[in-house]
Amino acid sequence: MGFLLKLSKKNWCFSMEEPQVSDKSISRDFIRRIIDEDVQNKRYNKIVTRFPPEPNGFLHIGHAKSICLNFGIAEEFKGACHLRFDDTDPTKEDTRYENSIQEDIRWLGFDWAPNLFNASDYFDEMYEYAVGLIKAKKAYVCGLTEEEIREYRGTVTTPGRISPFAKQSVEENLSLFERMKAGEFPDGSYVLRARIDMASPNMKMRDPLLYRIRHAHHYKTGDKWCLYPMYDYAHPISDAIEGITHSICTLEFENNRELYDWVLNNIDSKFPYKPHQYEFARLDLQYTVMSKRKLLQLVENKHVSGWDDPRLPTIAGLRRRGCTPEAIKQFCEMVGIAKANSSVEMSQLDFCLRDDLNSKAPRVLAVLRPLKVIIDNYPEDQVEELEASYWPHDIPKTGSRIVPFTKELYIEQDDFLENPPKDFFRLAPGREVRLRYGYCITCTHVDKNDAGEIIAVHCTYDPETKSGGSPIGRKVKGTIHWVSSKAIKGEVRLYDRLLSEPHLGTDKDFLSYINPKSLEVLPNCRLEPSLEKAVPGDRFQFERQGYFFVDPIDSKPGHPVFNRIVTLKDSWAKKQTA
Ligand code: ATP
Ligand code: MG
Repeated sequence: MGFLLKLSKKNWCFSMEEPQVSDKSISRDFIRRIIDEDVQNKRYNKIVTRFPPEPNGFLHIGHAKSICLNFGIAEEFKGACHLRFDDTDPTKEDTRYENSIQEDIRWLGFDWAPNLFNASDYFDEMYEYAVGLIKAKKAYVCGLTEEEIREYRGTVTTPGRISPFAKQSVEENLSLFERMKAGEFPDGSYVLRARIDMASPNMKMRDPLLYRIRHAHHYKTGDKWCLYPMYDYAHPISDAIEGITHSICTLEFENNRELYDWVLNNIDSKFPYKPHQYEFARLDLQYTVMSKRKLLQLVENKHVSGWDDPRLPTIAGLRRRGCTPEAIKQFCEMVGIAKANSSVEMSQLDFCLRDDLNSKAPRVLAVLRPLKVIIDNYPEDQVEELEASYWPHDIPKTGSRIVPFTKELYIEQDDFLENPPKDFFRLAPGREVRLRYGYCITCTHVDKNDAGEIIAVHCTYDPETKSGGSPIGRKVKGTIHWVSSKAIKGEVRLYDRLLSEPHLGTDKDFLSYINPKSLEVLPNCRLEPSLEKAVPGDRFQFERQGYFFVDPIDSKPGHPVFNRIVTLKDSWAKKQTA
């Protein structure tokens, strides 16, 4: 007998400096190629997939990959994709999670209507099929303890032993199963098991559990049931009842496929055809956690502000941060569907965000860490209205706003150095810099407080250099952003990677690797006055800083809160002044 030794797949890590975005024609991954063939052979009338989340937490970007695949296939083949809640564990599941899952899928731009189901819709049928399996001597009620079951199961290199309960008569099994349903036994006392093969090379086939007792209130079925089907039993039956043709799941279910088929081949049913299970590589993103169990731990222990904390890879968190569904879909497409697990760099998601926001987010000026500048030769109360385009030349959009210029302004603290190195092209004593859309200014001296900290920088301006005019006889290398004394105040939240390490082995406690700089709050930012009109949900590029989103929950009239969606990589300013 050949025993199956499952080799752990090497975790490939691919790094793409300049990821290629595929063109819009949908690439043929291995699952689509299988379906192409099924369509060609007219194997089904309609292609039906499903997305089967367990409502025990919020969805994350890994789920988005599965959603894009399942709903994407349904759209492409003019079929249907069902949303089915896998609600077989009443101790962890909740309506709140069902609602959030529906909101997230809709936000991504997909629709299941009218195909919304719960595994619990089929509990009656599943029970009847189980009775049928008992009658056919293909299932038995087992009273071994959990540890005994594990011990009897054997190992990958040694066969298991048959449970003493496997010998029970059909009548005894039927009666025990009935009494399990009637609530006569406590949790853990009995389980229903399939009678398959205790020596199977596939451990999943060694008399797997089909039902367990759980005296728990179910958010859908109430107290009707105290025994609940296991995933491996409930899933194939739900798929078959709904007429799913392609049941797509992640690679760790590869060994469950044999059991999936066994259930469908052995229950006494009259389905027109049997669904097939296909496995693809799950998305694993660096510098974050993707398991709902770990996400729940972060939320419950208040390491983050909630399921929608913008540092989390949850769809709700990404949405709150300001990511667009288009960027997430582009990312899922770029990552692709493969047969081997891989780990994906966060920078690929950043790339997709920049790519999408570049043509969507108007450019504005904001100073995150303000330093006061006083232009000594500028008239005291003068306000000049400078026109500034919202868009760079390479974006085919028009629109501009007025940025006022005043004697006192603010620049970014790190755009000034008192003792700069030679190659510092920003502001410093005796050095000249261009203010974006404004004038060239030259620093003359600084004001300091008693502690010796710079509190203001004094400059002179050259009136000949208005709105990009060149200074005569000199070269000004640096251009910096600024805002005037008419700027409004606002809060900016800079988000960074959740974890400080790209990969954490299972032996490492992820909680001790939370990046202490994953959130930096800047409460006293100065924003150009046009941002007064910004409303929650708006997105902007703060020139030289990144893309920002008006937080829909914490922003208040007169106090906007901006979340950084993603930094800029090659901004105009970096090229010129860095
Ligand atoms: P987690 O391990 O993160 O808690 P799960 O697999 O338990 O997730 P489910 O609610 O059972 O979560 O998942 C619903 C569907 O989403 C399943 O078909 C599953 O294969 C898919 N899925 C879950 N995580 C990923 C991922 N990281 N990449 C791709 N698909 C995923
Ligand atoms: Mg699961």
